[in-house]
Amino acid sequence: MALAGTKTFQNYIDGEWVDAAGGETFESTSPADGSTIGAFPKSGPEDVDRAVAASKVAYEEWRLVPAPKRGEILFRFAQLLAQHKDDLTELMTHEMGKVRAEAAGDVQEAIDMAYYMGGEGRRLFGQTTPSELRDKFQMSVRTSVGVVGAITPWNFPIAIPSWKTLPAIVSGNTVVFKPASDTPALGERYVELFTEAGLPKGVLNIVHGGGSDVGQRLVEHPDVPIITFTGSRETGVAVTKAASDGLKHVHLELGGKNAIIVMDDADLELAVDGIVWSAFGTSGQRCTAASRVIVHERVYDELASRIVSRVEQMRLGPGWEDETDIGPVINKSALEKIHSYTEIGKDEGANLLTGGEVASGNGLDKGFYYRPTVFGDVEAGMRIAQEEIFGPTTALIRIRDLDEAIAVSNGVKYGLSSSIFTGDVNRAFRAMRDLDTGITYINAGTIGAEVHLPFGGTKDTGNGHREAGQAALDVFTEWKSIYVDYSGKLQRAQIDTLEEPLP
Ligand code: NAP
Repeated sequence: MALAGTKTFQNYIDGEWVDAAGGETFESTSPADGSTIGAFPKSGPEDVDRAVAASKVAYEEWRLVPAPKRGEILFRFAQLLAQHKDDLTELMTHEMGKVRAEAAGDVQEAIDMAYYMGGEGRRLFGQTTPSELRDKFQMSVRTSVGVVGAITPWNFPIAIPSWKTLPAIVSGNTVVFKPASDTPALGERYVELFTEAGLPKGVLNIVHGGGSDVGQRLVEHPDVPIITFTGSRETGVAVTKAASDGLKHVHLELGGKNAIIVMDDADLELAVDGIVWSAFGTSGQRCTAASRVIVHERVYDELASRIVSRVEQMRLGPGWEDETDIGPVINKSALEKIHSYTEIGKDEGANLLTGGEVASGNGLDKGFYYRPTVFGDVEAGMRIAQEEIFGPTTALIRIRDLDEAIAVSNGVKYGLSSSIFTGDVNRAFRAMRDLDTGITYINAGTIGAEVHLPFGGTKDTGNGHREAGQAALDVFTEWKSIYVDYSGKLQRAQIDTLEEPLP
């Protein structure tokens, strides 16, 4: 796709590129310099209804396609993503703003997921178990469910759609996909390439538009039995409520307030590497970003000064420039929200060690850039240590021992990712056991998940489901238990078993 900025894009419904029924469009612009990426259909409920109807028809055929064949399309899609990795990466630096290496990582994650889920086409394992009765066989199999509504955020605009659409489709479902309004071009490219891989019409549809129009209709639509949603806690709650009348399967991946613990026996240089990467990668706009650093009092001063000195060397700029360390944040309201938390932190009495302002000069005024921000002397209960800021801001909290560190780490409403830097294996194992998060890292930052293990969190980070790995299949399939009695007579479970004679 060209970055021409003048092109008008369309929805993809039932194998055709079409305008929104109302004919309206909205623009996608770059957070790095305000340039226009393109115009996209501003769809409404009518467009969603059309896509769901097409998806429902396609489902009846798609569910019967042998799963290995479905998987082969995913393999071809993986190859196409790999072929287009560079142009997708470039587009991502413009539309979403992350730096080139991270954008390439985002695409690579989708490639990995496509290969992994393609392989599921030859697995989709069920179970067989012995029966308590003679001449009886039993098994459980995964079955597809129907039309999946997939609603995604802007921060991983290729990877997150892949976490949802790939397990859904390989399991025999069809999908209506609504990408974030801030990254429609990447959503469009994703669907274009997947279609090119050989998906039959109607299996994957994309409907662009706002959350309250397209997203909400998708959630409420009676013919959409599964909603898979990644985004903020607030929207996740609204989605759950809207889906409750339809008793839908709702899969939520929500926010985080992730912490890195640094003990007094840690390799401090390694810890600084992990902290800087986890707190400021993607400009802090990762659900797994380290927005808290919990530091043993014996190494606190040393660690704080090393972090500040590293952070002050970081260069802000557009993600497509090789020397950039930190790209822009996604939009103006994000910039304002992030800055409001700097004011909140100062008012709460935290010590602003560096950053804390909107960046300007050298062309940065054209985009949404925020100086990487570190607060020291933060108390665990302060708002900056409790609420998700979703920007390049981290809070240093001093602790005296491991018990306190774990209590502080767990003392937030979210439970996505956690980490500990320590040279003591006993401390590491206690942390693995006691940190209340879906993901824990030892001697690494809070980011770095791979596609073949479950991804997700405890508490308000979600509702108990997991993305990625085989766990993802549980969101998109139902279990069916099948009993085959070949005795030729009525055998009653739990009753006739009592009469079973032993030899
Ligand atoms: P968001 O504002 O909640 O939006 C997420 C998606 O929901 C967007 O596509 C949005 O559409 C749509 N939406 C908005 N209102 C809706 C409604 N009433 N019904 C249905 N859909 C609706 O979140 P975001 O700002 O894009 O993403 C940041 C959040 O995502 C952070 O909290 C972050 O932690 C979380 N996140 C979590 C994970 C995870 O795996 N746990 C991963 C990445 C991000 P529009 O774009 O049109 O508004």
